Amino acid sequence: MSVKVVKFGGSSLADAGQFRRVKEIIESDPARKYVVPSAPGKRFSGDEKVTDMLLECYRLSENDENIDAVFSKICERYQSIIADLGVEIDLIQEFEYIREAIKHHAGKDYVASRGEYLNGLILAKYLNYSFVDPKKYILFKENGTFDPEETNSRLKTALEKREHAVIPGFYGSMPNGTIKTFSRGGSDITGAIVARAVNAVLYENWTDVSGFLMADPRHIKNPKPIDTITYRELRELSYMGATVLHEESIFPVRYAGIPINIRNTNRPQDKGSMIVASAKQDDNKDVITGLAGKTGFSILNIEKEMMNGEVGFVRKVLEALENFNIGFEHIPSGIDTMSIIIHTAALEGKREQLINEICRVVNPGTIFIEDRIALIAVVGRGMIKAKGTAAKIFNALADANINIKMIDQGSSELNIIVGVEEKDFSQALNSIYNTFIN
Ligand code: ASP
Repeated sequence: MSVKVVKFGGSSLADAGQFRRVKEIIESDPARKYVVPSAPGKRFSGDEKVTDMLLECYRLSENDENIDAVFSKICERYQSIIADLGVEIDLIQEFEYIREAIKHHAGKDYVASRGEYLNGLILAKYLNYSFVDPKKYILFKENGTFDPEETNSRLKTALEKREHAVIPGFYGSMPNGTIKTFSRGGSDITGAIVARAVNAVLYENWTDVSGFLMADPRHIKNPKPIDTITYRELRELSYMGATVLHEESIFPVRYAGIPINIRNTNRPQDKGSMIVASAKQDDNKDVITGLAGKTGFSILNIEKEMMNGEVGFVRKVLEALENFNIGFEHIPSGIDTMSIIIHTAALEGKREQLINEICRVVNPGTIFIEDRIALIAVVGRGMIKAKGTAAKIFNALADANINIKMIDQGSSELNIIVGVEEKDFSQALNSIYNTFIN
């Protein structure tokens, strides 16, 4: 029988009411056999996430301050869920053990991971599923990186024996047994790892939005939802700031060919967005799948006559950047010009020295930095075969009287990136969106 792995984010498990919804969702489809919970998140805006409170306890303990007030709030969060749901579980000893461990300076990852651990215990009991502690199965190597193959074989064996299981998200262990977590938001990664291990037909990632939107609603009014998006398109959009899913969570399922479905716990009737390995290019009636953008970039412009004949020119410039530990985003170039797009923050305190160094190594005719640049990525598998996409983007911007500072098209023809002045950012997004979507 086909199996689905379901991961529920912090807001989906923030209180007893949310636990009830989660149970209903799981029980409405018998294929939903393996469940990955996050720690309880915010119940309302301004509320605290359990993981943040745990990290606060860690910080207090490191400064030899008293953790009791904050730790009691954490215990109360769990106790109220248990009492309200009427789950027969007593976590008092677990709480005491964790409290003592924190007071005795347990490691930061151990402390952070206890939010998922405790939530997993409650959820397993509530659903009457087995509890599988990832400490034994999700493994990291000596150098701290995740060990995908060893994890997969151990987890597979463990889960084969259990028809249903709850596997807390976010953590695993080091070869010496100490707890290690993924980066923040890492329960998404655990969900993908579990999906691969049980060879799931689908990885459902339940959160508090009904999938991805074609654009950021802070800039575009009522953007359309995205039904289907490929992993590659998603990577382009998330790099440019569209966040719903932890970026690394894509890898385990991508290679196993398992689609991810982003769903909304508070609106289970919505079908959400499906992330797939490949989609037919013509399945999407819109040429573009989505657009995303970010501010805070600078353009380093370099001009020199006969630049294109000077072997090693680009290398010398990039070496100068490397020496100052400055990464770059794009390098559109002309015959005698090159522009390097850099995060403005990366230039802090280094501008003058960097310019001096570039002058020393390549002696350019002109060199200057322009700040307050925004980049917009227009992404879509439909662009590969549609002609005139770039023209449409440029016309949209020209009609809105917006000056384009930079253009870059990825070699995959999956995206076109334009740079505009920050003051034009929102207008540019709207003009492009309205040209393609009506
Ligand atoms: N609870 C962890 C965090 O807040 C991991 C997660 O929710 O995915 O980052």
